[in-house]
Amino acid sequence: MSQQEVRVRFAPSPTGPLHIGGVRTALYNYIFARQNGGKMILRIEDTDSQRFVPGAEDYINEALAWLGIGIDEGVREGGPYGPYKQSERRDIYREHVKMLLDAGKAYIAFDTPQELEAKRAEVPNFQYDASTRMSMRNSLTLPAEEVERLIADGEKYVVRFKVEPGRLVEVDDLLRDKVHIKSDILDDKVLYKSADDLPTYHLANIVDDHLMKISHVIRGEEWLPSAPLHVLLYEAFGWADTMPRFVHLPLLLKPDGKGKLSKRDGDRLGFPVFPLQWTDPKTGAVSAGYRESGYLPEAVVNFLALLGWNPGDDSELMSMDELIAKFDFRHCSRSGAKFAFEKGKWFNHEYLQTVPDDELCRMFIPVLRENSVDTDAFSPEYIARAAAMVKSRINFVNDLWTNARFFFVAPTEYEAKSVKKRWTPGMPAIMEELIGVLEQLPSFKSADAEPVVLKWIADREYHLGNVMNAFRLAVVGECKGPHMFDITELLGRDETIARIRRAIERIPAPAAE
Ligand code: GLU
Repeated sequence: MSQQEVRVRFAPSPTGPLHIGGVRTALYNYIFARQNGGKMILRIEDTDSQRFVPGAEDYINEALAWLGIGIDEGVREGGPYGPYKQSERRDIYREHVKMLLDAGKAYIAFDTPQELEAKRAEVPNFQYDASTRMSMRNSLTLPAEEVERLIADGEKYVVRFKVEPGRLVEVDDLLRDKVHIKSDILDDKVLYKSADDLPTYHLANIVDDHLMKISHVIRGEEWLPSAPLHVLLYEAFGWADTMPRFVHLPLLLKPDGKGKLSKRDGDRLGFPVFPLQWTDPKTGAVSAGYRESGYLPEAVVNFLALLGWNPGDDSELMSMDELIAKFDFRHCSRSGAKFAFEKGKWFNHEYLQTVPDDELCRMFIPVLRENSVDTDAFSPEYIARAAAMVKSRINFVNDLWTNARFFFVAPTEYEAKSVKKRWTPGMPAIMEELIGVLEQLPSFKSADAEPVVLKWIADREYHLGNVMNAFRLAVVGECKGPHMFDITELLGRDETIARIRRAIERIPAPAAE
């Protein structure tokens, strides 16, 4: 078994947008595959036609591609064990249902929903299993001719797995001690429904794991209850020696308090629970996505990787390659991971600092346009330098606008508190004088301009803080932002002087004391 090639699968059902917990499952599968030189398979589990949602499969593909979670075999990629979409594998499942029926390991049951309902009302905690199956309408209790006749008459039936009582089923999970489950507590799961000629999730999932030579089943903890059936079905088919290893990942929990992370937590606390924005095809309701909210895929990957796993040291910022190098299930936590979305913002902040300036410019342009800035009026270098100057203050690309707006739109209003404090009676005259100094500067470069202006303030024995803050107020509109002379260097001499002039005109002259 240990020599076997690592082959893992992410097996979502296209029943809606991929939840962020599902993304983490996909990510761990991918990292594990890459780390072991194995294969990552994307299998679309669409056998439940009732729950099928149009657009969900495309959404899954797009989300994984955005995050850099590469697929080796799948619906789009193809591969030696296809088709990779379960609705295209009906023949395979039919054949496997027949194998179980022929071997007496499954049986046909005709009980109607009404009959089952009546049984449930009659027998407390009714379960279709060894204790009850002989009192039901199935191929174990009906004569063979009648079974044939009912099928020929088109009566709807299901095929159920015949769970033998008295067995101790061992589930071996890499994150847990071996779990032993008494087969007596398991029910005779429905494997196939004649009504839509489709297998249930259980049969399709397990048969495909075998046929696709899956070595490790890495999935959310909510699937742990299905694991004993996995073991029993592998045995029933005679595949026990190729049983995959299980890894059931701990749940993602609410950021605050107890319980499973839900979409409502995201709405309540203001963070997305989906990788990409999703528009519900039925209601038109739009749910926020990480991509559209301004997250970088690298930041989302890094953040998710650390929800339930740690590298064993205190490193936090890790690229996909570093995650692949360091990942180890022995450092996965067994208990749920709180969805610390604030940490997600921090990761995004950190990754934004590493984005090259020209790339930052490319990301900033649409934001500028949204805010009615004519971006053709500014060179890419100008936009890039403006963004670079404020990036240490941002968590999201959109934040560039609030922080760098003044590079693109001259202030027409001035922050009242600072006006009151800094625009003292003598200040307009000092600002006139400053214009003279700026006009005379041989170079407007930050490093050249700064000493000259500071020397003028010192020579004139002006108050450094007051003059510099009034200068900033005139140019920026408020008393914050990056280094003043870096700002003026980028704005240029003409624009800087024009802004000071405008401030002198617009800011009402303070009453003399
Ligand atoms: N189709 C199941 C899902 O939607 C797959 C569970 C599994 O990975 O076995 O998650």
